Amino acid sequence: MDEWIIVPAGLIVFLLGASIGSFINVVVYRLPAGLSILYPPSRCPHCLNRLKAYDNVPVLGWLWLQGRCRYCKSKISPRYPIVEAITGLIFVIVFITFQFSPQTIGYWLFCSWLLALSIIDLDTMTLPGELTKSGLILGIVFQMILGFTSQSGWLGLVNQLMLAIAAAVLGIWMFDGIARIGTIIFRKDAMGAGDAKLAAMMGAWLGWKYLLLASFIACIAGVIAQSGSTLLIQKNLKRNKPFPFGPYLALGSAIALFSGEAILSAYIKFFF
Ligand SMILES: [Zn+2]
Repeated sequence: MDEWIIVPAGLIVFLLGASIGSFINVVVYRLPAGLSILYPPSRCPHCLNRLKAYDNVPVLGWLWLQGRCRYCKSKISPRYPIVEAITGLIFVIVFITFQFSPQTIGYWLFCSWLLALSIIDLDTMTLPGELTKSGLILGIVFQMILGFTSQSGWLGLVNQLMLAIAAAVLGIWMFDGIARIGTIIFRKDAMGAGDAKLAAMMGAWLGWKYLLLASFIACIAGVIAQSGSTLLIQKNLKRNKPFPFGPYLALGSAIALFSGEAILSAYIKFFF
């Protein structure tokens, strides 16, 4: 990519991502509550006044209102601008990694789904089927488009379709298996059904190799973070308290997406 285009393009991409982040804020609030995502437009949860377009500008709107509603002055959580900024950054990283390609648009969608699922899982300990199922279908469509454009037309499309479905099935089997073994060992549900559906979605987007890598990273990160927090706040945490696994799966997916090639080739060099 030419240097002169990187900075302005990066800025536009960040703003696009931050706007999508603004929408993710709406989704993670309304979807678990069973509210419509499209109606009504953004409004203050306290006084129900509609937000002005200029107050709704991602990140900046919150900053110039100093984190308070224009009308009733009640506090607006800093989570809103943080989610917007994170989405903007993710969009920029995807753009830098995959540049002007169909992958960029696809992975923008994939990462947005992962972020929304992570936040909802942290909030409610559930992964809504609406998101995992739509994410799975999008992933399969994405692979079909990639197959059609980058390989040999219809043959490539069918090939990628088969691979995506196989990886999705692998994801479900793997996590159903882990859940069953966990249930036998701990005598309680170790993993929600949502995790298996998320794994199926990851399989479709990432393919079987990166699905395995992402799941492996998620397990290690989950164990480290949970044992760390249990040591630190042992008194407040019941042992074997369930914890949301979705954010770790999302983290593993992101690492596999951006550094999977480097990790796998280092692994192969090390062992073979
Ligand atoms: Zn208000």
